[in-house]
Amino acid sequence: MPAPELVGTPEPTGTPDVIVVGGGIIGLAVAWQLRRDGAEVVVIDPAPGTGASHAAAGMLAPIHEACWQESHILRLNLAASRAWPAFAEALGTTAVDYRHNGMLMVAYDAGDKAVLDNLSDLHEREDLPVERLHSRECRSREPLLAPGVRGGVYSPIDHQVNPRRVIVELLKRVPTIPAAATEITGNQVVTGGQVMTGNQVMTSNQVITGNPRVMTCGQVVVAAGAWTGKLLSLPIRPIKGQILRLNGPEGLMRLPVKGVVRGSSVYVIPRSDGEIVVGATQEEQGFDTRVTAGGVHELLRDAIALLPALSEIDLVETWAGLRPGTPDNAPIIGMGDDGIVYASGHYRNGILTAPITAAAVSALVQGHDPPLDLSPFSPNRFASQ
Ligand SMILES: Cc1cc2nc3c(=O)[nH]c(=O)nc-3n(C[C@H](O)[C@H](O)[C@H](O)COP(=O)(O)OP(=O)(O)OC[C@H]3O[C@@H](n4cnc5c(N)ncnc54)[C@H](O)[C@@H]3O)c2cc1C
Repeated sequence: MPAPELVGTPEPTGTPDVIVVGGGIIGLAVAWQLRRDGAEVVVIDPAPGTGASHAAAGMLAPIHEACWQESHILRLNLAASRAWPAFAEALGTTAVDYRHNGMLMVAYDAGDKAVLDNLSDLHEREDLPVERLHSRECRSREPLLAPGVRGGVYSPIDHQVNPRRVIVELLKRVPTIPAAATEITGNQVVTGGQVMTGNQVMTSNQVITGNPRVMTCGQVVVAAGAWTGKLLSLPIRPIKGQILRLNGPEGLMRLPVKGVVRGSSVYVIPRSDGEIVVGATQEEQGFDTRVTAGGVHELLRDAIALLPALSEIDLVETWAGLRPGTPDNAPIIGMGDDGIVYASGHYRNGILTAPITAAAVSALVQGHDPPLDLSPFSPNRFASQ
């Protein structure tokens, strides 16, 4: 495992080449990639790692997240999936609990089976590597499944990671300043300063003027997740997700399971330490992050319908996070007409797409070709809206 490049209190020096606004998984992964490519980078965020990335389950599931009419997102997700093993290895595969044992998608009743069959048609059309399974075959892969489960699809290439552990590892490797950007113009970022202490930014060449403070750099990258639309005029909106964490004996479940249960979707992700994540609701509620009785009830009802033994284990956390959604469900990765580089709007797959986004943004900032065609993800696609 390669040694971390920077561990302990980070020390930004001089005018950074790049300021990354937002320290969720996207901003931190971008900053780490830029550092590894030789750039001086600083991330500004009032509370790094506490946004959607803290809520996320950590499915890295291009196959089970595939949707009709979204081939460009599928291609991005497949490329992201291929980038994960090296990314996890560089952070420490065990440290981030990266697991590559596939994922099962199952149908609860006959109506749900029809939904799954429709998805299987998509898998076939896109030539994706999946195995269709009968009920008994599903239960031999995951013995905890209810006997009534109607059948399923196993994807060997979907995998998983613990996003909270990824954030811990990235924060060891990336310099962060605990401030909130209040304005971004060209290559300048104005910070509100309420949580920023002077010492952390008073380095030799940074331009700092009282309060508000102005920081200058070579290139600004905006990765402020669901809050990006508050900072700049892009159509990014928060999509709330409530999510639960249970705790059971290690090895209770063998495989991550995604299910369609009476028309709604639920997933259950076991980690190696006995944690089992159950998620997630999809709600248009603005910036509300309340956990509701109804949200918790629906998730537990559907998860226990699929895996009855979950009713016996501890419920240890209820949480809600805000996915950064866009009008066409695709992320925004690229340089805008304003010269700002955007890495935002990753919606349901920001954990999966963090490594490929980081590689693409680092290439853009250095003036190199990105590792994939970014035109479907351009910030300028919303110019007329
Ligand atoms: C319940 C739930 C489950 C999910 N499960 C999965 C999953 O299994 N797999 C998957 O791939 N994805 C999943 N996602 C989606 C994934 O979490 C997001 O796509 C991803 O975390 C987005 O990362 P981000 O860094 O863009 O945003 P965030 O993690 O939200 O980070 C944005 C950061 O910007 C900071 N910020 C805000 N305003 C400012 C400002 N003015 N100045 C500076 N900083 C600012 C915030 O403090 C925050 O730290 C899930 C999301 C939710 C909510």
